[in-house]
Amino acid sequence: MGDTIFDKIVRKEIPSDVVFEDEVALAFRDINPQAPVHVLVLPKRRAATLTEFTDQDPSYLGEFLKRVSMVAKQLGLEENGFRVVINQGRHGQQSVAYLHVHILGGRQMEWPPG
Ligand code: 5GP
Repeated sequence: MGDTIFDKIVRKEIPSDVVFEDEVALAFRDINPQAPVHVLVLPKRRAATLTEFTDQDPSYLGEFLKRVSMVAKQLGLEENGFRVVINQGRHGQQSVAYLHVHILGGRQMEWPPG
């Protein structure tokens, strides 16, 4: 098990601006937002990366994805849309080794990403 800054946030050893929490997921606002709305959603069952996370049982993966969708709706992003990002590893520029889903919204996104 790693002990990243997000492990500490999940354990409430470090404060965060929580927008949603239950037994499956924790969602909190990114400290360095890249959009008017920028929230990170973490599974309570930790994994370092997406490819490690998908070793979990499929029902948990489904429940976690539902939380991502619920949080986006709760943040009022459904009507105008939003972007979901998972960075993995060096090329993906993942900076914290605890899987997290970025939800970005509140402005027009561009493609391709940098
Ligand atoms: P990654 O680059 O790993 O996909 O994303 C990590 C994200 O975590 C970044 O957007 C960064 O701003 C955010 N972040 C890093 N440390 C903290 C922190 O202590 N609190 C919060 N709320 N966000 C953090």
